[in-house]
Amino acid sequence: MPTPADIEIEAARLAGKLGRPAPRIIFDPDRSLADSQLEIVTGRLRYGNDLLGLPSPEWEVVVAHEIGHMRQKTVMVLFLIGLVAALAVIGAALAGVISAMSPYPLWVLAVVLIVGPLVLAWREFDADRFAADQFGSATVAQSYLRLISSGSMKTDPFFRLRIRVLR
Ligand SMILES: [Zn+2]
Repeated sequence: MPTPADIEIEAARLAGKLGRPAPRIIFDPDRSLADSQLEIVTGRLRYGNDLLGLPSPEWEVVVAHEIGHMRQKTVMVLFLIGLVAALAVIGAALAGVISAMSPYPLWVLAVVLIVGPLVLAWREFDADRFAADQFGSATVAQSYLRLISSGSMKTDPFFRLRIRVLR
């Protein structure tokens, strides 16, 4: 099981592979493993007690997945700009600035509802891919299955799909 120093060193090592500075690591005892996440825009990794209780290679896989999110920064910044622009168009229609009969707000809404979930799903597959590039896809898939069986991770269908893609 890792010490906080182990987590910091491993996160810095993996970030270095992406040519990025080490993220700021924040221990937050109340945070569950499912919520341990890299705050991409601020480059911080928050983790809770769960991560300190994981054996190898599970904890390394979890850290690698989170660091994998760092390489999506450009896409996520573009996505957030697009989302703000889209919400502005919809807001303008609701406020009556754009004619309510204009088809554009509906088109924008449709694109947001389709592209938004796709981008969020892609993020997870891409972060898994980064972890798999470091430790091998079989190791990542087995680690995820052990996390599920130990109750550390939820068994939602999307998580199952991510494991299936890895195998
Ligand atoms: Zn993720």
